[in-house]
Amino acid sequence: MTSVTPAQELLDVAYEEALHGLAEGGIPIGAALFDADGTLLGRGRNRRVQSGDPSVHAETDAFRAAGRRRDYRRTTMVTTLSPCWYCSGLIRQFGIGSLIVGESQTFSGGHDWLADHGVAVTVLQDRRCVDLMTQFIAEHPALWYEDIGVADELEA
Ligand SMILES: [Zn+2]
Repeated sequence: MTSVTPAQELLDVAYEEALHGLAEGGIPIGAALFDADGTLLGRGRNRRVQSGDPSVHAETDAFRAAGRRRDYRRTTMVTTLSPCWYCSGLIRQFGIGSLIVGESQTFSGGHDWLADHGVAVTVLQDRRCVDLMTQFIAEHPALWYEDIGVADELEA
């Protein structure tokens, strides 16, 4: 990680977004994009439910909120949950240099793949993030499996 701000403090912003999403009745995943000096560039949350739009993941929401940039190498994407393949693709496509993951216990997406491709990945296994997703999945399994694109579980 290149930021001077501790990873945990950066994660706090993404976690706030996740709580905001939960309060809205949405899937509690938050994200934020920071510059190398810790400046917040954009923040967002999964709004699949709120916006009726399956393409609004936390990472894409934060990315869009940050606006246009020429170069993402010195930026850090912070997300409460391991990024899915869609969001991992975004991180690789735009060359985002660093990734901080709140947790990868409830869902493990593409963070190892990103590390293999040169992204500086930090996985915090933050207890708050684990508890938030564990409780959400237990209470809303159908919504969760829809979000991660696992159709079979809905029919089980
Ligand atoms: Zn995603």
